[in-house]
Amino acid sequence: MRGGVRALGTALRPITTTARRLSRGRGLTIIGWHRVDGHSDGLSTGVDDFRRHLDVLDTWGATVLPLDAAVAALAAGTLPDRAVVLTFDDGYASVVETAWPILRERGLPTTLFAVTASLAGDLRFAWDRHEPEHDRLRLARPDELLDAAGEGLDIGSHTVSHPWLPRLTPADLVRELVDSRVSLEELLGRPVTSLAYPTGGWNPAVRAAADAAGYRIAITVDRGLNTVRTPHLSLRRSFVPADPEDLRLILDGAYTVLRPLDSWRSRKGPPW
Ligand SMILES: [Zn+2]
Repeated sequence: MRGGVRALGTALRPITTTARRLSRGRGLTIIGWHRVDGHSDGLSTGVDDFRRHLDVLDTWGATVLPLDAAVAALAAGTLPDRAVVLTFDDGYASVVETAWPILRERGLPTTLFAVTASLAGDLRFAWDRHEPEHDRLRLARPDELLDAAGEGLDIGSHTVSHPWLPRLTPADLVRELVDSRVSLEELLGRPVTSLAYPTGGWNPAVRAAADAAGYRIAITVDRGLNTVRTPHLSLRRSFVPADPEDLRLILDGAYTVLRPLDSWRSRKGPPW
């Protein structure tokens, strides 16, 4: 599948690059990772691959913006050309330990979406349970998040317990959205108005609940370029595969052709 996608992306690159050029100044690419540690494997991106991703952003000419500023500029029509936002989901410790120092050194603003059940003590995600006990699976402690936030890392909510939101009762949906926001606001001492839907699960009812819960920005995993018409509570985002060439395809808009597939997947339910 992946080889086919890449071949398709490469074949479509002249078209997508032209589309990108025509939308000059009006498109926002949001990209994401999960954890950055020793080697690329599953949810992990190796440190060397991560540095290569940042090199690709540089050579491509990306203007990396803070999430809130990028969304404000998108709405105002003042987005710079090749605007990109960097995000991390889940709140793994390797992000604050390894990725954030590299990003800070390069002056790149970044948003981390944390699961707040981890603030109260050890949390291990369902998809990590089959892996042997390893430090790479550790989630950041509250003091680590607070220190990184003090250094400029933007922190948003990834809910309390990372459920598939479209499946929840209305009461549980409100609890996941509101309690996580309040916990982070108490930790950070500032408003928290951004959210990443766990596993990209959303539908119009979930989006309305996010709005009612006080969020102004929410991010899916539906790939493609965000335009002035993209709702701020269902922004598009692509996770970055290990191979830097795949990031180039994302930036050139090649994966936008997969939008219908992503819309279906984001409503179907999680693989676990
Ligand atoms: Zn997640």
